Amino acid sequence: MNERLGKTFFEMVKIDSESGEEQEFISYLKDLFTREFQAKCTTDSYGNLIVNIPGKDSARKEPVFFSCHADTVKPGKNIEPILENGIIRSKGDTILGADDKAGIAELVEALRTADRYPPLEIVVSREEEIGLVGAKHLDVSSLKSRMGFLIDMDALDAVVIGGPSHMIIDVEITGKAAHAGMEPEKGISAIKAASYAISILKEGWIDEETTVNVGIIEGGAIRNAVPEKAQIKAECRSMIHEKCIAQSELIKEVFETAAKSIGARAEVKMEMAYEAVRISEDAEVVNIAKRAVESVGLEPEVRVICGGTDASIYNKKGIQTVVIGFGGKAEHTKDENIAVADMEKAVSMIHRIFEELSE
Ligand SMILES: [Zn+2]
Repeated sequence: MNERLGKTFFEMVKIDSESGEEQEFISYLKDLFTREFQAKCTTDSYGNLIVNIPGKDSARKEPVFFSCHADTVKPGKNIEPILENGIIRSKGDTILGADDKAGIAELVEALRTADRYPPLEIVVSREEEIGLVGAKHLDVSSLKSRMGFLIDMDALDAVVIGGPSHMIIDVEITGKAAHAGMEPEKGISAIKAASYAISILKEGWIDEETTVNVGIIEGGAIRNAVPEKAQIKAECRSMIHEKCIAQSELIKEVFETAAKSIGARAEVKMEMAYEAVRISEDAEVVNIAKRAVESVGLEPEVRVICGGTDASIYNKKGIQTVVIGFGGKAEHTKDENIAVADMEKAVSMIHRIFEELSE
């Protein structure tokens, strides 16, 4: 294997950076980018890292955006990476952290070995895994890039051009408490209202681009009282922003009406986590990404995904960003792993992007 790429990746995953605790890792990256690439590194007010690297032998003067996220999911402390038969995995008691440190290591290795590259604006965001929080707070006013690549997909052949709108729906139902044995007739069961609402709610696929799920229900406090409170956590996603809003409004109405019908009250809070994005398949950034995938012998799969990525936010902030692969497998589990050969392919893909954008 490429010793240096492996060494850098191992170094990175050994620095703990669970969401919210990325500071040490970001300092490490600051040092690395400054030392090796004469980069100008700053952090914005939220602590996201912004790296400006001057172009190398590039005809293009306009910068190009690259991004990865600094945080990992749990359990991500004291990760011990192990290389065996060309595959890197953790010892088994933690995730590996290839998501997204493989992407960062690959980008760094591509920079080390590229003959040329355009001026780069690299953002390493915080708290991606807990709701794209860093990207949402990112101050893009200092960024001049209009085109970008987020290295945060598992599959190397993926070119992600879009994602859904995602509504977070929190419901609190209030009924009326009463002793369950002495005077149950005076109570109004919040659990009853909740189950009534959920039983008439349409869940799963609503149409081919919209889903609804009730993920958590909690309610009641003690066995022998008519439950006064019940809480429900639900969500709606749709590739079409308006459908996401309309479906969510419907869910709100179902809870309110069902609760009211038995004398309870539903308070429904809705928050749009991120909005649907779709880049045209003809966009230059998509074609460049496709050619990069082809350059390593793979067939590019241009697609939309059902989840949000930092690209959902960057696209809304005016940087047309596709998501490309870093090559990992089984992210967010203790089986997370990555083949060294795939890391090397990802480096080649980034080279190809650098090359085209240096013209
Ligand atoms: Zn990720």
